[in-house]
Amino acid sequence: MTFGIPREAESVETGHGAAVTTMADVRPPAGSGRTAVGHTPAASTGPAPAGGSAPGRHSGEPHRPGTPHAQARIDLAAIRANVGRLCEVAGSAEVMAVVKADGYGHGMVEAARAALAGGATWIGVAGMREALALRAAGVPGRLLAWLLTPGDDWNAAVASGVELSAGADWAVRAAIRAAHAVGRPARLHLEVETGLGRGGACPGDWPGLLDTAARAEAAGSVHVVGVWSHLARADEPGHPGCDRQVAHFRSAVARARRAGLTPEVLHLSNSAATLTLPEARFDLVRPGLAVYGLSPVPDRAGPAELGLQPAMSLTARLASVKRVPAGHGVSYGHRYRTARETTLGLVPLGYADGVPRHASQAGPVLAAGRRHTVAGTVCMDQFVLDLGDVPAAPGDEVVLFGPGDRGEPGAQDWARAAHTISHEIVTRIGARVPRTYTGGTVSGAR
Ligand SMILES: *Cc1c(COP(=O)(O)O)cnc(C)c1O
Repeated sequence: MTFGIPREAESVETGHGAAVTTMADVRPPAGSGRTAVGHTPAASTGPAPAGGSAPGRHSGEPHRPGTPHAQARIDLAAIRANVGRLCEVAGSAEVMAVVKADGYGHGMVEAARAALAGGATWIGVAGMREALALRAAGVPGRLLAWLLTPGDDWNAAVASGVELSAGADWAVRAAIRAAHAVGRPARLHLEVETGLGRGGACPGDWPGLLDTAARAEAAGSVHVVGVWSHLARADEPGHPGCDRQVAHFRSAVARARRAGLTPEVLHLSNSAATLTLPEARFDLVRPGLAVYGLSPVPDRAGPAELGLQPAMSLTARLASVKRVPAGHGVSYGHRYRTARETTLGLVPLGYADGVPRHASQAGPVLAAGRRHTVAGTVCMDQFVLDLGDVPAAPGDEVVLFGPGDRGEPGAQDWARAAHTISHEIVTRIGARVPRTYTGGTVSGAR
């Protein structure tokens, strides 16, 4: 698929292989949910010019009302293909696609469905509310939530077959209470601390947790399905800390078996470990970032080298284009000043939309066929590009990031510009930015 080119509609494949024509999904402001827009063309202009890879038109053509001034286009076919690739890499291990945080900004339900269509057999989320939202949307399959607190709705989770992490006695007791309340055993994955210093039972508490769980299992209140942990430095392939955590994990699992437990799945790997640490794959891997086609080891390999396709493209249409003289200050604090007479283009995306303010004077944007850098400070709703002398008009499309096949930057380029990781770039794209889905069905909009 292409992007950065205004068009009437996309011909896409549904999950069942039938071709349908779908339109941009324009989400109303204020996060009121996504609605597929029937048959109203989402873009106002005609087909792309032959060989037209550069975004932007220069004539100020009229735009049909309702054209989003910015959008995140999500390629569901890329998500399916990425999960297929991860299944291949995982070998005999199953794949749990992690769709927490609204599917890393891609849409939780849409991402989960695409991941299942791509071969994932499990879905993973952080919080219980995320898991319950997936169930409410009718997403089937095995589903694990791992970041739980005593006030969560444990009854609802157990009743809807959500599998739950327990890294402390209180969590096992909460699961037991819920199991009794709803009349069905809770399915638990015991979390062991192996070095990350986040959740999970420390060595001194692990035997006690195992005993509590084993007694509850004998009583029929819980079923211990899994044992799991999480790596601190999987994104530094070859770091000895990874091997130490794998060794700790193995001995914790042995201890669980001695306590009489027979976990069916052991799991330790995030995206980076799935792709670079075969000995940590065990029975199940939990990739998140790679599902969305981004590299978890960007200093070692880009998405293409890992066989991944970035699924999200973030574009916007210029809201203002004007000539200014040399020496003109740009944006709050005048951190940028024009070196000569030039054209300034105003991009209607800001930090409220997830464009990092830390990427002021640094974020890369493809505009008028060339890479430009954010001029001055990123504001709440907008930022400025110094376009030089290239022709540009209000409504021209610019590309902040995408898969890169048209010369646009990647999410990782923004991560570098903002001194962060690409997880944060895509995850923080705000609710004000409508998501548009291609490469899959959007008929069942939530
Ligand atoms: C977020 C998360 C993952 C996925 O991590 P990625 O780096 O995005 O692959 C896996 N497991 C746990 C426990 C997580 O919190």
